[in-house]
Amino acid sequence: MPRPTQPDPVVGPATVIALANQKGGVAKTTSVASLGAAFAEQGRRVLLVDLDPQACLTFSLGVDPDSLETSVCEVLLGKAEVADAIIACDDGFDLVPSVIDLAGAEAMLLPRPGREYVLRSALETSRTAYDIILLDCSPSLGVVTLNALTAADALIVPMPCEMLSHRGVGQLLDTVADVQKILNRDLEVWGVLPTLFDGRSRHAREVLADVGQRYELTVLQPPIPKTVRFAEAPAVGRSVLATARTSKGAQAYREVAAALLARL
Ligand code: ADP
Ligand code: MG
Repeated sequence: MPRPTQPDPVVGPATVIALANQKGGVAKTTSVASLGAAFAEQGRRVLLVDLDPQACLTFSLGVDPDSLETSVCEVLLGKAEVADAIIACDDGFDLVPSVIDLAGAEAMLLPRPGREYVLRSALETSRTAYDIILLDCSPSLGVVTLNALTAADALIVPMPCEMLSHRGVGQLLDTVADVQKILNRDLEVWGVLPTLFDGRSRHAREVLADVGQRYELTVLQPPIPKTVRFAEAPAVGRSVLATARTSKGAQAYREVAAALLARL
């Protein structure tokens, strides 16, 4: 009797997802690490790319940027391949780290022709080695963020729940519209990820309750609760999925990740 065989896992080029918001402190970096860990738990091959000169993602995963020979800088300047910069992390994903010099690299990119396409072409050879590539953007709409939006298949905009009541992302969406017109027709906006949700705050609950009706973007679910667990994780170089496995925050990121996987 032939044994039933498992279907082959889907092996195709990675889906590239940028997490961007020109505001700082909205949980971009936390979401990249946590979603990355959640996808890795699901058996997906995951690459995270730190595109912020502040290198918070790199630090939070226990990597000291000062100790690095190769980072995202060399990749963006065409001096190294993505594969040369990759570091395997304990959470089960790989990382292309950042360093402070990225600010200088950004200036060096500016006069180059095709400067917005550098990351897209650099990632081309890595796309078959991963299922998902997450891009952690800096709080700006500069040329490195444009590189992220040009390289990405999808955009997720992390945003604290209170900010959902303002028109906080207009400028970002204008940029996205330009990118879709000129640089990357295929960029899809997957929606806003509500973060730092304080369930005890009536305002936050109300904002979240009717946001689906009147908001210009899809609001991903569930919201990520605000908990002190998130402050603890970077100190040990792991994501919250490892340091507080069963916390509500970790669970919320697993649910968002599962919903995203369903649409890949
Ligand atoms: P960004 O990358 O958008 O600047 P971060 O991910 O660095 O934002 O988060 C900003 C701060 O908020 C960090 O100190 C982080 O630990 C904290 N933080 C992120 N998400 C949560 C959460 N759900 N609950 C509590 N603190 C959080
Ligand atoms: Mg950040």
